[in-house]
Amino acid sequence: MPESEYELVIIGGGPAGVTAGIYAARARIKALLIEKALIGGQVNYTERIDNYPGFKNGVSSRELCQNFESQIKELGLPVAQSEAKEITLKEKEKRVALDGRTITSHTLIVATGAVPNTLGVEGEERLTGRGVSYCATCDGPLFRNLRVAVVGGGDKALEEALFLSKFARDVFVIHRREAFRGVRILQEKALSEKNIRVVWNSIVEKIDGNQSVQSITLRDVKTQERKELSLDGVFIFIGIHPNSELLKDKVKLDTLGCIVTDDCMETSERGVFAAGDVRSKLLRQVTTAVGDGAQAAFSAQRYLEDLKTPNG
Ligand code: NAP
Repeated sequence: MPESEYELVIIGGGPAGVTAGIYAARARIKALLIEKALIGGQVNYTERIDNYPGFKNGVSSRELCQNFESQIKELGLPVAQSEAKEITLKEKEKRVALDGRTITSHTLIVATGAVPNTLGVEGEERLTGRGVSYCATCDGPLFRNLRVAVVGGGDKALEEALFLSKFARDVFVIHRREAFRGVRILQEKALSEKNIRVVWNSIVEKIDGNQSVQSITLRDVKTQERKELSLDGVFIFIGIHPNSELLKDKVKLDTLGCIVTDDCMETSERGVFAAGDVRSKLLRQVTTAVGDGAQAAFSAQRYLEDLKTPNG
């Protein structure tokens, strides 16, 4: 087997990558975790996680991310704060180009997660950071006693609407259908909150404002009627898309660009595994990311053991 700097390189420090790192460190695998921003990934951009076992009252995202970080630190897992720019796959050696250097590894776990979708409407890009936001935790407190809209009807939109209702005077949830996709318990909570109002069957056509958001134009998809809603902020939670560019044209992706794996988290390329939101799957939660990460590390360990056998 050729010499590589690492036995395992994990790209991405969200719940999937961190779990893979914990399992790898405990298995005494020579591993490196690469994270370009914050340990915890997308968890950093939400306020609380309410469906993680063991925390019956939910857990603050900040606490969870701090615990992720201290756990991998105590286990001695090396972390490179860097961005993986390119992956080159050779049969038994995988190369990851970082800023200014390239590292080699026998096996890879790609846990690069996903990023929020944008609406793609007029005014959205220009007013991002000036009232348009994709993170209620980061920007919610700026809207104390103001009027905001939340666009979307999934778990995220409902969770963040509930969080924003603590600060904003009015929270309008704009949903394109007349039934939410989000889990029932969140629907019940949001619908019973007195400063949350739902605008059903409506899509945002335009976001207006000079220096910052002043209004949005809505179209009722049933009546085609248009109306303007005066607002100070627009929070957009309409799903996510995978950060899979590193493996584009290198492993099999599904039609949405998510990495296809088998049950062991192995991609179409031997020794390359994927875990978490970047993977093709139905349920994207912290709980499922953690399971993926554990499985991917276990499979990577098996792969390494196979490599070490005489015919591996
Ligand atoms: P989601 O479950 O995919 O829901 C997206 C929502 O946005 C849907 O209601 C959808 O409408 C709407 N939508 C999509 N495109 C739209 C457009 N162009 N215009 C208007 N509305 C649009 O995604 P999410 O709620 O944003 O959550 C993102 C991810 O985070 C999900 O995978 C979710 O499972 C995960 N999450 C995890 C946790 C946790 O681990 N505790 C908590 C929250 C979220 P339709 O219903 O009509 O399709």
